[in-house]
Amino acid sequence: MDFRLTEEHEALRDSVREFAREVVAPVIAEHYEKHTFPYEVVRQMGKMGLFGLPFPEEHGGMGGDYFALCLALEELARVDSSVAITLEAAVSLGAMPIYRFGTPEQKERWLPRLVSGEALAGFGLTEPGTGSDAGGTQTRAVLDGDEWVINGSKAFITNSGTDITVLVTVTAVTGTRPDGSKELSTIIVPSGTPGFTVAPGYSKVGWNASDTHELTFDDCRVPAENLLGERGRGFAQFLRILDEGRIAIAALAVGLAQGCVDESLKYAKERHAFGQPIGNYQAIQFKIADMEMKAHTARLAYYDAAARMLAGEDFKRSAAIAKLHASTVAVDNAREATQIHGGYGFMNEYPVARFWRDSKILEIGEGTSEVQRMIIARDLGL
Ligand SMILES: Cc1cc2nc3c(=O)[nH]c(=O)nc-3n(C[C@H](O)[C@H](O)[C@H](O)COP(=O)(O)OP(=O)(O)OC[C@H]3O[C@@H](n4cnc5c(N)ncnc54)[C@H](O)[C@@H]3O)c2cc1C
Repeated sequence: MDFRLTEEHEALRDSVREFAREVVAPVIAEHYEKHTFPYEVVRQMGKMGLFGLPFPEEHGGMGGDYFALCLALEELARVDSSVAITLEAAVSLGAMPIYRFGTPEQKERWLPRLVSGEALAGFGLTEPGTGSDAGGTQTRAVLDGDEWVINGSKAFITNSGTDITVLVTVTAVTGTRPDGSKELSTIIVPSGTPGFTVAPGYSKVGWNASDTHELTFDDCRVPAENLLGERGRGFAQFLRILDEGRIAIAALAVGLAQGCVDESLKYAKERHAFGQPIGNYQAIQFKIADMEMKAHTARLAYYDAAARMLAGEDFKRSAAIAKLHASTVAVDNAREATQIHGGYGFMNEYPVARFWRDSKILEIGEGTSEVQRMIIARDLGL
C-alpha cells in the first residue's frame, strides 16, 4: 500500500496549485459576486490540458488517468469551487459519456474540442420532478423515421448554457421493457437545435461563477445516430458515470476542506484578541487540528476509491464512502473556518464565506448523502 504520488502526479498537482493561486484567486471573487462565467480562466485551463487529463492522446487528451483529474480538482477547489465544478462537469459528465459510450464518429466529431476545453458539454439527467429517483425520468424520445423527437425538461444542468457549450447529453424514456419498466436511453442534443431551450441561469446559493440552467425540449428533433451507445442502456450508462463522478466530487470536497484549513491557519496567526493571536488559544488550535484531520482522512478515502477504479476493481462502495465522507468534511470545515474568522467570516470578501456557500451543494449534487448511504447499505447486503 503506497499512497505517495508519482513524479508525474506530483508535478501536475504543483502546477495546478500554482495556477489556482496565481490565476484563479485574483479574479474569482469578482466573477462570483457578479455571477459571471470565468471564460478567460477556463481558456487557460484548456491550454494547460486540464480538460484532457484522463483521455488518451488519440483524442487530443493528455494520456493521464482519472486520478490526475481528481488531483487537479482538489487543487482548484482549494482556491475556488466554481472553477473546479466547471472542470469536473466538463470532463466527468460532459466528455466522459461520449468517450465511454460514443461511436467512433461521435468521438471524432465531439471529443477533440471537448478535450481541449474549447467547448463544453452538459449531462442532463435530473428533471424538475425527479433527481435521486432517476428511474422517474419523464422526458421522452420517440423515433420518427431517422430522427428522435424529444419532449420534456431537465433541471440544474451544469455547463449547459455557456457561450462555448456545444451539446447536452440527455437521458430519456425511449420505450417500455417487456416487464413494464421504462427503457431509458441517452441522446446527444447539440446546442442550438430547434426546440431545445436553455432558461436563464438560476440564482444560486453558491457556485456562482459556474453555469447552471433548466433545459426544455419541445418536439426537439435530432438525427437517430445521436443515440449515445446502445438503446436501452441509459440507466447503466449514467450509473457508471455517476460512480466515477463521485470520486471527482470527493476530490473537489477535499480541496474545499483543505482551503478552509489554509485560510484558517493564516487568519489565526494574523487576528489578535485579548492581546494575542487567536491561534494561541487552544480552542482555535483544536478546531484547526480537527479540520486538518478531516481533510486528510477524506483525501485518503478518495485516493482509495480512485486506486480501486484504476485497478479495475469494484469501486462503487468506496466511491460512495469517499463522496459521503468528503462532502460532510467540507461542510464541517467550512462552518468551522467561518467561525474562526468571526464577523469577517460572514463577509463575502473573505474566501471562507465563498467556501461556506459552496460547501452545501457537495452533500446534494451527484447523489445526495442519503443516496450515498443507500448505495453503501445496499452494497453491504441490506
Ligand atoms: C448547482 C447544481 C448543479 C447540478 N448539476 C447537475 C448536472 O449537471 N446534471 C444533472 O443531471 N443534475 C445536476 N444537478 C442535480 C443534482 O444531482 C440533484 O439535485 C440531486 O441528485 C438531488 O436530486 P433532487 O434535487 O431532485 O432531490 P430529491 O431527489 O427530490 O431529494 C430530496 C431529498 O429527499 C432525499 N431522498 C430522496 N430519495 C430518498 C430515499 N429513497 N431515501 C431517503 N432520502 C431520500 C434526498 O436525499 C434529499 O434530501 C445539479 C444540482 C445543483 C443544485
